[in-house]
Amino acid sequence: MLQFFDRSWKLPAALAAGLLAGGLLGWLANGHIATGVALVAIAEIVLLLTRIRHVTRHIMPSNPTISSLQHDRFMTRSRRIASSLRDLRSAAGSLPDAVVLLDNEQHVRWFNHAAEDLLGLRRPQDRGTHLHERMGTTELAGWLQDGAHEPLNDVVAPGHPNRHINVTLLPFGRRQRLLLARDISHLTRLEQIRRDFVANVSHELRTPLTVIHGYLELIDPEDVPELAPVLGEMRAQSKRMGQIVEDLLTLSRLETQEHVTDERVSMTPLLATIRKEAEALSQGRHHITVESTAEADLLGSPKDLHSALSNLVSNAVRYTPTGGNITVRWKRTPEGATYSVTDTGFGIPATHLARLTERFYRVSSSRSRDSGGTGLGLSIVKHVLNLHQARLEIESEPGQGSTFSCCFGHERLLKPGTSDEM
Ligand code: ADP
Repeated sequence: MLQFFDRSWKLPAALAAGLLAGGLLGWLANGHIATGVALVAIAEIVLLLTRIRHVTRHIMPSNPTISSLQHDRFMTRSRRIASSLRDLRSAAGSLPDAVVLLDNEQHVRWFNHAAEDLLGLRRPQDRGTHLHERMGTTELAGWLQDGAHEPLNDVVAPGHPNRHINVTLLPFGRRQRLLLARDISHLTRLEQIRRDFVANVSHELRTPLTVIHGYLELIDPEDVPELAPVLGEMRAQSKRMGQIVEDLLTLSRLETQEHVTDERVSMTPLLATIRKEAEALSQGRHHITVESTAEADLLGSPKDLHSALSNLVSNAVRYTPTGGNITVRWKRTPEGATYSVTDTGFGIPATHLARLTERFYRVSSSRSRDSGGTGLGLSIVKHVLNLHQARLEIESEPGQGSTFSCCFGHERLLKPGTSDEM
């Protein structure tokens, strides 16, 4: 009996301590996985403490097969373990991330100081309460009630309206859960500063660039033949700078916007416009086809959708050598409808695909610049699609071509000529 307790407590205690030490270091280095491991260890510690208390209070005194020497040795060891575990629990208690230990029915079993601050939990009255009921009508409560499958990012902290948190629910033990909430207010603030900076710089650059471009347009190269080649280059570059500034301003607007206007976007005229724009850009160098079988219009912002959908065609023209094919498709799918642009162009190596929608990310900077790109097009596409709850899928084969698809859900589709949803 005694040996059983000795072995069974030593190993988990050592494990918990090791995990916690590793986790704390990881947390200091901002490692989320290590933080998770540390916090699961904390959960184990709390369970261990409860069990030790139970054994020393109820099982040991009433067991007649244990001698008094064995009893004393066991008590000394378990006191030592309990004391180190208590230290670890108090370390866990002072973590800046909120930690809440939940049983299999989401009742609160234990929480640290940060949970009082960020989630508004109070002791002792909140021990044993149902967490989602305790969180009232907050976004966090809804997320818990829906099963909390994915982490919840950037929500207002229920205990602190000026703070923002990221929340994760980790399973451990027998259907128990560990809720972690990390204060990300400083990141939100930095992100806001970055957004404001980009928007302000772009705004400030707009007027001087317009003036410079205007004067350059006024100069007739025939009046200054010796400057003609330089003048052409200056005009092209000032136009490019102007386009970058306009794209940055568009991105800033899309980033701060939470919703789009819900207007009908008639797809037949939009596809006709996109075809004309593509033909103008291609100047007869490509074979352009438009196939429209969806018989559906879109619900959203006409200006933003036009910009996103035509951007993909403009890319297809710019990254497909002369003689290539470009096919635009608007078709129904089981989940709604998809607008796709397929080209037989240069294609993109798989390693670049995940980063294509980052600002200024280019597979080849020179090719992008030569083709008049700003490096912001796909970023704009992604933001526009996010605002319409749609997603961008990219398939590509180097040397064969690419397909960029915008996948819209049923809630964004309208029957042409009626106001009915599809
Ligand atoms: P850019 O203005 O440089 O075209 P984008 O954000 O539109 O910027 O695209 C990012 C990069 O993705 C491009 O620089 C290019 O390398 C690659 N890309 C985009 N569309 C295509 C395409 N249809 N075929 C090949 N590469 C593409």
